[in-house]
Amino acid sequence: MNHSIACPRLRTVAACVLISLLVWSSPGAAQDISQEQPIANDVHFHLTNYIQEGTDIHDFLKIMGNKVGRVAVFGIPLQQQWSYRSDGDRAPTYYLNSDAPLYYYSFTDASIAMAYKSLTKQEQSRLDPMITGFNPTDMYAVDHIRRVLQTFPGVFSGIGEFTIHKEFVSAKIAGGVASLQDPALDRILDFAGDVGLVVLIHNDMDVPFAKDGSEPAYLDQMKAVLKRHPTTTIIWAHTGMGRVVRPIRNHAAHLAEILHDPAFTNVSFDISWDEVAKYIVSSPEALRIAADLINRYPDRFLFGTDEVAPSDQNAYLKVYHQYAPLWALLDKQTSEKVRRTNYERVFDRARQKVRAWEAANLKKDVRFAARHRIAHIHRMGSQFR
Ligand SMILES: [Zn+2]
Repeated sequence: MNHSIACPRLRTVAACVLISLLVWSSPGAAQDISQEQPIANDVHFHLTNYIQEGTDIHDFLKIMGNKVGRVAVFGIPLQQQWSYRSDGDRAPTYYLNSDAPLYYYSFTDASIAMAYKSLTKQEQSRLDPMITGFNPTDMYAVDHIRRVLQTFPGVFSGIGEFTIHKEFVSAKIAGGVASLQDPALDRILDFAGDVGLVVLIHNDMDVPFAKDGSEPAYLDQMKAVLKRHPTTTIIWAHTGMGRVVRPIRNHAAHLAEILHDPAFTNVSFDISWDEVAKYIVSSPEALRIAADLINRYPDRFLFGTDEVAPSDQNAYLKVYHQYAPLWALLDKQTSEKVRRTNYERVFDRARQKVRAWEAANLKKDVRFAARHRIAHIHRMGSQFR
């Protein structure tokens, strides 16, 4: 038998055996690829910044690598105006760089959607785009959200991060300050509940430099909003913290009150932002208080970075590593939930519901919007009578 003919098949088998030997012989290689779970999912990520510039979405997937599994991705719904009268040639890139106003920037949703649509199906499966380009003081904001779903079906899973009260930002927004008592906000949250969109809302619980011992300025208003929308999945960003906050004991007690109350089972908190992480790991006592609360309510906290247009993985995972002392204090199951599985539960359900809503509703034309508006005005009428 002329081996040369038979040999090729033998050679292939030999080659396969050799490769698998090589793979298995180098510890961790194969395991790494197949075995290793991502360290976290990220519920709070801005692909673009306050002048709508950011990271290319393909580069961002490389930055995620195999460290971060899934990400809720959105832009920033506010544009920092470059006013030549105010700043001359010095182009501001952040809201603290200029006195010139911020204004709502709706095109952010189209650029996020187009970036997402430029990905492969497999890449898309790792991202949950969110609609942010609306003005929450506008009764027509809900029509913008529906129009974005109609224009980009199959893309979005939620709305946010959008902001009501945020220190140093809210007062700078052209067109008037957002309010927790605005029926425009109720309309947005009603619609999100109907569609199944996850809501990620930024609302400082308090004002900066508040007087010691005084009740947090926006806590009761926020609780009232949350209670008015029990069927809407709401994530309160940064657990309601801002840059300038109170001693942790009070803050944790306010969160515990909400978490303990069955009227708020639809509410979770994200622990994103380096300001929040810095604060939670600031002392052994702060850490213990935070870990106790999270271990008590493991299904209600989600990890997030709140990073904006990072340039590399180190910068992107900075907040995750800041939380190392917290991860050490959480029991194994809780840590898994906060870092990864709470995200999967919330967003898998949202994807299903939103796709189902799109399939059932998007063929309906404008008559739908008009009917929805009338129905809503009736609903609002009864609420505010
Ligand atoms: Zn944010």
